[in-house]
Amino acid sequence: MRNILEVQDVKKYFPIGTNVFSFLYPGKKEYKKALDGVSLYIQEGRVSVLVGESGSGKTTLARVILRAIDPDSGSIIFNGDNITKKTGKELRNFRKQAQMIHQDPYSSINPLMKVFDIIKEPIDIFYKEYSDEERTKKILAVLDDVSLKPSTVFAEKYPHMLSGGERQRVAIARSLSIEPKIIIADEPVSMLDVSIRGQILQIVKQLSVNHKITVIYITHDLTTSRLIGDEISVMYAGKIVESGSIDSVFSNPLHPYTQALLDAVSEPNFQNVDKEKVVRIKNFDSAPAETGCKFFSRCPYSMDKCKIEPRLENKGQNHTVSCYLYDKE
Ligand code: SF4
Repeated sequence: MRNILEVQDVKKYFPIGTNVFSFLYPGKKEYKKALDGVSLYIQEGRVSVLVGESGSGKTTLARVILRAIDPDSGSIIFNGDNITKKTGKELRNFRKQAQMIHQDPYSSINPLMKVFDIIKEPIDIFYKEYSDEERTKKILAVLDDVSLKPSTVFAEKYPHMLSGGERQRVAIARSLSIEPKIIIADEPVSMLDVSIRGQILQIVKQLSVNHKITVIYITHDLTTSRLIGDEISVMYAGKIVESGSIDSVFSNPLHPYTQALLDAVSEPNFQNVDKEKVVRIKNFDSAPAETGCKFFSRCPYSMDKCKIEPRLENKGQNHTVSCYLYDKE
């Protein structure tokens, strides 16, 4: 299976503690390393989960991939094309193919517009050649795709007439209307009632299968990632620390951070996770280490050589981890 997206050694640092006086008294600047050399390979037509705690860099990575912000260094390759520095028409063409679903559907849909017009808006921008009849047909078809039926009834509603789950379906339908190749779903169910989270994720999964859309599902919640994902990458402090197939990572978590995340899942016998392989981290609130392994201060297995940064290495069947515990010597 080919990669539709390659993120190659991407870095994005944000200056911290800057204010008006920083310009008057310039000194040594400090930075938050939101992305510190991230490489990620996303296979076409699959659902890849990006998991990590708040502040690990997941959303920054999504924004860099979508070219909402520029990386400081590194490359984004989409469909074999380096899009890192694209502008104008080329960037617009990429944006048609890569869509985002946000955590809060209210942030992406206009509460004053009918569902019909909300979905029509991107079609008007990207498919100017469509006739009115083609537009209507497309809008009703995507409403059907997200199970808002009868679609003719839902098309006439306003967002305030819908439940949270229905609003998120409208946001998904809107993204779907311009036939993207990849959708990045950033915590799309975290603001929804627990009882409907599974339904929304099943819709996203079905879209991936039926329309051959690649999905990157961003979450801090391992419970939902198992419902939808084919592959998973675990982020910690701006780095990918482990990645592989969902089955491989859940049945054999290698990085102590992944093991700790699994330990935090409260459900007993959660989806066949081997609870023997979980670990309790120490110094829960300590900041990531500045040098060496970033997990050093929280890791119960830390040793001297962890003061030098470990590399992400393949430990078999495309299951990669950055940790010295698995060195042969
Ligand atoms: Fe722990 Fe060392 Fe592995 Fe980092 S490299 S996770 S500190 S054992």
